[in-house]
Amino acid sequence: MRVGICGGGLGGLSAAIGLASLGFEVEVFEKSSSLRATGAGLNLWPNAGRAICGLGLRDQYGAISVKLDRYLGYDANGKPLFEQDTRDWPRKYGAPSVGVYRLALSSMLATAYGLEKIKFGHEVRSVENKGDKAICHFSNGESYAGDLIVGADGIYSVIRDQLIGGVKFRPNDHHAYRWRAVIDLDEIDVDPAAQTGFYTPGGWLSVIPIGGGKAYWFGSVSGARNLDEFIDYFRCWTHTHIPRTLSITPRDIIVESPLYDVDGIPYQWTHGRITLLGDAAHPMMPDLAQGASQTFIDALALRNAFAKTKDIDQALHEYENERRPAANYVVKCSQKGSFLGRNKVEPVAVRYEKEIESQNI
Ligand SMILES: Cc1cc2nc3c(=O)[nH]c(=O)nc-3n(C[C@H](O)[C@H](O)[C@H](O)COP(=O)(O)OP(=O)(O)OC[C@H]3O[C@@H](n4cnc5c(N)ncnc54)[C@H](O)[C@@H]3O)c2cc1C
Repeated sequence: MRVGICGGGLGGLSAAIGLASLGFEVEVFEKSSSLRATGAGLNLWPNAGRAICGLGLRDQYGAISVKLDRYLGYDANGKPLFEQDTRDWPRKYGAPSVGVYRLALSSMLATAYGLEKIKFGHEVRSVENKGDKAICHFSNGESYAGDLIVGADGIYSVIRDQLIGGVKFRPNDHHAYRWRAVIDLDEIDVDPAAQTGFYTPGGWLSVIPIGGGKAYWFGSVSGARNLDEFIDYFRCWTHTHIPRTLSITPRDIIVESPLYDVDGIPYQWTHGRITLLGDAAHPMMPDLAQGASQTFIDALALRNAFAKTKDIDQALHEYENERRPAANYVVKCSQKGSFLGRNKVEPVAVRYEKEIESQNI
């Protein structure tokens, strides 16, 4: 069985690892010229950990991630708002909640699949079904024909656009941007085994350890249209470490990510021998920090569906049936907003237990 995976991000690589473990001939096509080197950190939850371990990467994942024992929330004056103890999550949920450096995660996946096998510089322009084959065409003039094409080309997927369209993005009117960066953990005074967040209805900033002596900070401010306005918002939060954190972070390493609300959820992932996976299948706001977790679960579900049957249509049907309703539910949960924001939702660790674990996703 020949499988072409379009997109060498977290989803494409984990799907490649899963399908290659079944003996399939898998090719990964990535538009960039090398593995993504930017992108700061990620908070991954037990459901991500279970899926990554299910793909056979338990030791590698353990080696690059930092277990989070607590989620701590404070106000702008450094007064405690909440504390969630997560030390027993590995026992309760089968894996810890962790902080991880995105590049370390991508490198771990690329190594497990085989970095040298990734076809960089292959930007998918279009896909088509032809009989029982699926074909993708690249902007460099090459084409690939396989028994299955997996569209793992991220949130602005051209494959999804071509197959179903209908997904529209509009700037989030509360938090239009997320700013984030990686700095040295020992430069700031935070609990090295916790996510530490400072929250007000107008803005927030959180820090997590991500390993290798590094910390990842990330935050948003309502109405801030640029980095200066974001930094200004925290200038008087002198009872917290935030002014110092922002002042020691070189500006040129701060990543600015525009945040978009998504109108229209992909209503069908599989079209003949082409299917969607990851952000391409379920584009979502990052407020619940579940995008990558759902992506790893897709990869494991796709692998498991093909482990059960050699019938491609049946396997794709099982994959989509299992994953689409669950992922769409998470997309809806992620649209609620962030803690102490406009909609006053609960802290993210509380939401995780209520909205994800209670639904067994
Ligand atoms: C600010 C922010 C913070 C986030 N924080 C978290 C978090 O803490 N926890 C969490 O679980 N999730 C988080 N996410 C979500 C997470 O980043 C995504 O859900 C995850 O990366 C999805 O993986 P993917 O492989 O589907 O897409 P991506 O990782 O985006 O990979 C897609 C790949 O496809 C390639 N590509 C794109 N177009 C083409 C094309 N035409 N042809 C070939 N290749 C193509 C891209 O170059 C890329 O390598 C966050 C997202 C944002 C924006």
